[in-house]
Amino acid sequence: MAQEIKRALPRKRNRVQIVKVTVKHPDGTTEEVDAKECTKCGVVKALLEFNTNSNRCSECAKESARGNYKQRKVMWEVIEGGKVQEM
Ligand SMILES: [Zn+2]
Repeated sequence: MAQEIKRALPRKRNRVQIVKVTVKHPDGTTEEVDAKECTKCGVVKALLEFNTNSNRCSECAKESARGNYKQRKVMWEVIEGGKVQEM
């Protein structure tokens, strides 16, 4: 019997935690905003990067929509925070 090797990946979570991250705007200002982890790519992004009621970020949604979206300009970059604690 072949034994399945389980990789040490975190379990899929349905609940998405809201975290605080500090983001830097293109004009150099920083701001603390709410963020959550994308269930697809696992990257913590500001809530505005998600579509309403979606736990996938706009980039992942764009991928699944296959080019229906135009390339979205990055509004900010996360410079601090973004670590999601496992409950
Ligand atoms: Zn994503």
